Amino acid sequence: MPSFETGVRLLKNILIKKRSYSAFFADETDALHKAFPAKATVHAGPFGIPMLWNSARNFLEKKSFEPRQTDGIAYVHIPFCESRCLFCMFYQNPYASEAADAYTNTLIKEFELWNQRAAQNSAPIKALYFGGGTPTALEPYNIKKILDAVRTNLPLAEDCEITFEGRLHGLTDEKLSACVEGGVNRLSIGVQTFNADIRKEMQRLDSPEYIIRRLEKISAIDNLAVVIDLLFGFPGQKGKVWTDDLKIASELPIDGVDCYQLNVFEKSPLNTRIKSGLFDPAATLAEAADMYAESVEHFSSHPNWHRLTNTHWARTPLERNLYNRLAKGPSDCLPFGCGAGGKLFGYSWMQERKLANWSEMVEKGLKPVFVMMKPQEHWHLMRTLASSVESGPFNLKEIGDNFSVDIEKPLKPVMDQWIKAGLLEKSGDIYSPTVAGQFWYVTMAQLATEALTMTIAKEDSFKADPITQSVYSPNQAEAWLKTINKRKE
Ligand code: SF4
Repeated sequence: MPSFETGVRLLKNILIKKRSYSAFFADETDALHKAFPAKATVHAGPFGIPMLWNSARNFLEKKSFEPRQTDGIAYVHIPFCESRCLFCMFYQNPYASEAADAYTNTLIKEFELWNQRAAQNSAPIKALYFGGGTPTALEPYNIKKILDAVRTNLPLAEDCEITFEGRLHGLTDEKLSACVEGGVNRLSIGVQTFNADIRKEMQRLDSPEYIIRRLEKISAIDNLAVVIDLLFGFPGQKGKVWTDDLKIASELPIDGVDCYQLNVFEKSPLNTRIKSGLFDPAATLAEAADMYAESVEHFSSHPNWHRLTNTHWARTPLERNLYNRLAKGPSDCLPFGCGAGGKLFGYSWMQERKLANWSEMVEKGLKPVFVMMKPQEHWHLMRTLASSVESGPFNLKEIGDNFSVDIEKPLKPVMDQWIKAGLLEKSGDIYSPTVAGQFWYVTMAQLATEALTMTIAKEDSFKADPITQSVYSPNQAEAWLKTINKRKE
């Protein structure tokens, strides 16, 4: 399988060459297995213009007094894990109770920073997500403190979806009670695979038997949606192991399943082991495509399950998958915590990833912004387009009408070619992805956004940026990314 970074390079090449529609065309010989040479990104959406540190912080400080304009969601990051899974690039810090206590106290201060400001308190938060890292690594008393502080400082909607992400390892009944009593109504558990050998190889800590038993017990808790993640593409998983993963998941009394593709990151411990010959290679793109198609076939033909998105399936009405759906679109998202990402008024930003830097900023009374992206013109339209293409069938005419911009005409050459290649079908104004299109949905969403940018966004929006005085070009973007990555390390 090409590494994640191969996809990023693919996208960069398209950005450099994008002066003609053919840059966005798919291979017409075998859409499912080789429509594009790699997946272009993990999350689709328009690019912005980078603003760094002080300029970003000063700008956001002013913006924080303006009321939010779109549906509001919030994200809280818990940057600790008890151990590192080999495939993961989200691992930040080893869990230690003293560090987690200190983190909890600083996090509460961050909730309080903007609690009198319009960007935080002007409109209800419809979905709140605790991600990481491993939020369930926290002790019950810290879970309780954080959830109490959230309710005091954020205007949560009455039916707010509150998700706690984590793993079953160490998720005691006391922690579960602290979650449920604090208002958590959705638990997202990273299972990844039920296969004992692969779990051991990836350094996942619990046995399949324990996981199944525990999921059965947790699923019996009233009004708590229990959702699991399954990953496809691990070395040795294709074939019977994946078939078993799907079967076990679909027979559990859980509320939802997300089936997503393994990304092998160049710097991940998994890639090092594969390269040194210690592990077999991960599934190739073509094999991963077959595994995806099998998941679609499996859940679509299962009477108890229905589809929510290209990768997400629900068994009961408790599972709404609200945060994930809103996060892909233009919704404002308030971020909290070290390494969290969010967006306001089209400006997206990442917070400091180093605990000491994040903590120092919050203690000074400043939102700990690390880097911000200024939106290009038409960002709202672009985000709506990207999230629509990502979510399943989409209607370009309707999207364009909502923004008084004709997007059908400029995108027609690309859409027609994708139909010819077997990625889309069209009926009336609706484009529906085939199974192949569903597998390539993020790449298609990103390429559709880029194709539209090429034709309708004003060139000027990519040139002089009044705040950073920078001029944006692919080469400068690359230099800028290097600076960011250096600071992250
Ligand atoms: S627990 Fe989750 S965030 Fe932590 S290393 Fe494993 S997969 Fe990554």
